[in-house]
Amino acid sequence: MKGIYLDHNATTRPHPAVVEEMRACLEEGWGNPSSSHAQGQEARRILDRARVRVAALISADPDEILFTSGGTESDNQALRCGAVLRPEGAILASAIEHSAVLDTCKALARQGRELRILPVDAEGILDPAAFAGALEDPVALVSVMLANNDLGTIQPVREIALQAKARGAITHTDAVQAAGKLAVNVRALGVDLLSLSAHKLYGPKGVGALFVRRRNPRVLLTPIIDGGGHERGMRSGTLNVPGIVGFGKAAAICRQETAAEGARLTGLRDRLWAALSRELDDIHVNGSIEHRLPGNLNVSFAYVEGESLLMGINDVAVSSGSACTSATLEPSYVLKALGTGDELAHSSIRFGLGRFNTAEEVDYVAAKIAGVVKRLREISPLYEMAHEGGRPKQA
Ligand code: PLP
Repeated sequence: MKGIYLDHNATTRPHPAVVEEMRACLEEGWGNPSSSHAQGQEARRILDRARVRVAALISADPDEILFTSGGTESDNQALRCGAVLRPEGAILASAIEHSAVLDTCKALARQGRELRILPVDAEGILDPAAFAGALEDPVALVSVMLANNDLGTIQPVREIALQAKARGAITHTDAVQAAGKLAVNVRALGVDLLSLSAHKLYGPKGVGALFVRRRNPRVLLTPIIDGGGHERGMRSGTLNVPGIVGFGKAAAICRQETAAEGARLTGLRDRLWAALSRELDDIHVNGSIEHRLPGNLNVSFAYVEGESLLMGINDVAVSSGSACTSATLEPSYVLKALGTGDELAHSSIRFGLGRFNTAEEVDYVAAKIAGVVKRLREISPLYEMAHEGGRPKQA
């Protein structure tokens, strides 16, 4: 396929070794893992191996992994079941959660649950001190994502979980963007529930997992999908064995690569930012640069419409917002939560660097964007007004 792919927060290309294991599974491991005959047992064997691999990625036990159809289902199950487990008290979620979390919280609020949305600061980070204030009234459930899909900003989930648990709340984190990019350890984080999605870490789409803590305390979820009692009765339905096998392989590769890949992607991201800021004025990074995923850079190009910029760089795949919400032309609610004005929010581009990107690609993209931004600004009366006489006008 032609073009340069810099949209790894939207999805990732399955690793060739993942494709290979999935193909082998479809050919040889196609049995039903619940069957006792040889075909069934072969499917069970490869399924069990995948469960061990996914668990290892987050330092969980294999029997704490519940396979689902993806991050959206994991988030739904965590919140809907968490709300059943704690029928009293409020549900707390950060303002920059993915819609899979926010919309589920809103659905629970429509059913009568109290919902408190927690603000983030201008860097896109939840302040643990402000969070402590939100815990003063009874709390049932807290959901704060580990890394944000638009900004890549990383939340202090460990501190949040500690405080929330001291108040008896169930704690959930959406680690869909963080897993495979950061070292994620459920014991160190101290959360009860954690969501994963295979397609964000070089695995296939339509498969994910929910970590469900088994000790200190043991969390028992009521199913949202009833049927044959699969996944220890918590999620029925014959398992998507090829998808899970691909997920397992992708997790195993990430576990080996996370540290080295993180360092390489941070280098590429810094290179991209250095090249853009050398060529262009009036640009800035949205969200903390310090507490951020290695491959993410979210940049506002003032006086330029994000959509026009995207049209000018049609051989480069980037996003002008979260892929899941960019069907609407509303400014990103994530950027608005940081206090970014509508105009700057509309001028923002999310770059998501990933495993297969190279320094040459980064240099090409930076040069191409700089050219298009300069061209668009040449016809922007606002940019001209702000830079009368070639000097930025003082605010
Ligand atoms: N949570 C986050 C943070 C995401 O970025 C996404 C996907 O963009 C999801 C959940 C949903 O995951 P899935 O696409 O596997 O349903």
